[in-house]
Amino acid sequence: TTFENLGLHKKLCDTCKKLGYEHPTKIQRDSIPIAIQGRDIIGIAETGSGKTASFLLPILHKLLSLNTKPSPCSGLILAPTRELAIQIFQHVKAIGSEIGIHSTLLVGGEPIVQQQKEITDSKKPAHVVVGTPGRVAEHLRNTKGFNLFRTKHLVLDEADKLLSSVFEKEIALIFGALPKRSERNTFLYSATMTKSVEKLQKAQLNDPVKVQV
Ligand code: AMP
Repeated sequence: TTFENLGLHKKLCDTCKKLGYEHPTKIQRDSIPIAIQGRDIIGIAETGSGKTASFLLPILHKLLSLNTKPSPCSGLILAPTRELAIQIFQHVKAIGSEIGIHSTLLVGGEPIVQQQKEITDSKKPAHVVVGTPGRVAEHLRNTKGFNLFRTKHLVLDEADKLLSSVFEKEIALIFGALPKRSERNTFLYSATMTKSVEKLQKAQLNDPVKVQV
């Protein structure tokens, strides 16, 4: 199978080739067509499977298929650690910069003010935001003009870890700020299916398709 066969926008197929992705990996083959159809996905997959591109490519496909410019923060990708968020952001930046999609990284340990500029810049807003729960919640509380009203694509990576008690307040705040599940697409990934992941799935996903690698 090729990326074209999965139904992806030509620009994205070209970008994949440029990045050296010749063929989609299994999780990409299994999830991209479903995601393009607009279904929610629960993926049981680990890092190294090509998971990142499997959620990123359909999100970027949707943003490219709009008749208008994407809204600020159309996509929100949450990861439990700074390191994972940085890795995902590097993917978003590499693909997005080829197709005119702007992104930003919201993690702790970086100056707040620079991040505030990037998420509230009306001329060049970030279409896709990648972050950790702590810093994203902090901006929701303190950055005037930053909100998740128009977030149509939500990714919860390593959801089992996102649901650890240390993030409980932040995750609740973020879900409270997001459109309800019928008004967004949600992709949830976890290495294992735990009780709390199952609970989150029931509350926040819409009849998801399960993809396993
Ligand atoms: P991930 O599981 O998302 O962390 O991806 C693992 C590594 O595989 C990353 O370095 C990606 O750039 C790379 N990768 C993802 N998809 C493909 C593909 N279809 N072909 C070749 N490499 C890929």
